[in-house]
Amino acid sequence: MLSVVSIGPGSLDLLTDRARERILSADVIMGNERYIELIKKIIPAGAEVIIGRMGTEVERAKKAVELGKHKNVVVVSGGDAGIYGMAGLVIEVIGNSDSDFEIIPGTTAAFASAALLGAPLSNDFAIVSLSDLLVPWSEIEKKLEGLAKMDIVVVIYNPMSKNRRVQLEKAHEVFMRFRDRKTMVGIVKNAEREGCEVDITTLEELPDFYHRIDMSTTIIIGCSGTKKLGGRMVTRRGYEKKYEYDRSGK
Ligand code: SAH
Repeated sequence: MLSVVSIGPGSLDLLTDRARERILSADVIMGNERYIELIKKIIPAGAEVIIGRMGTEVERAKKAVELGKHKNVVVVSGGDAGIYGMAGLVIEVIGNSDSDFEIIPGTTAAFASAALLGAPLSNDFAIVSLSDLLVPWSEIEKKLEGLAKMDIVVVIYNPMSKNRRVQLEKAHEVFMRFRDRKTMVGIVKNAEREGCEVDITTLEELPDFYHRIDMSTTIIIGCSGTKKLGGRMVTRRGYEKKYEYDRSGK
């Protein structure tokens, strides 16, 4: 049996019971170093641990499918495995062959970050990854432009790494072109992990935070309905307007 198990953003109390159960009954656990480190306390003593490096995901997926034919194999993936994670790749490797396979969902970084900021995702939103390792930048930029023109909350994953800084600057430029410069922006680094930092700022002041943004950071760009209330970032759904409307209309 092969299980692709989402482990959530970090803290083990955000691991679902189902994910925990699969890890506890695994013969083989595969994942990158960071994810293995996050779950090491609950890895069973007898389980074989296979640590993969970034960039070796395809090999890992193939090996997992092969081993899963005879053993309980768990592939761990951070956040939710189906969101820029291992689930899609494993399905592509399995193809049309009928393998015993399951995916266990988890809390993605956007949801963990949103909860720390307040409730910025209370209305429609989109998630965009700024990583152009697999997707050409021109395509990412087109999506950013389309979304920046719409009044919708945009969550940014993979904003910056040591060797990749310019993408966030370009994304910021796109949003500055189409959105109010006072639009609320939430920044969460290491959500539910050691070193957690939560900041609420505005679109025009986002560059002041660049030095603190890395690959473990999620950025949430609000829309016109996103406000700061009592130190929290919240996107209003229109309850307040509806309430006024009902009172005045009746
Ligand atoms: N499958 C993961 C996302 C993988 S893409 C998920 O569902 O969360 C990796 C990006 O996710 C990072 O660059 C960062 O933008 C975001 N991310 C992952 N874990 C995070 C955390 N603990 N805190 C803040 N952002 C995180």
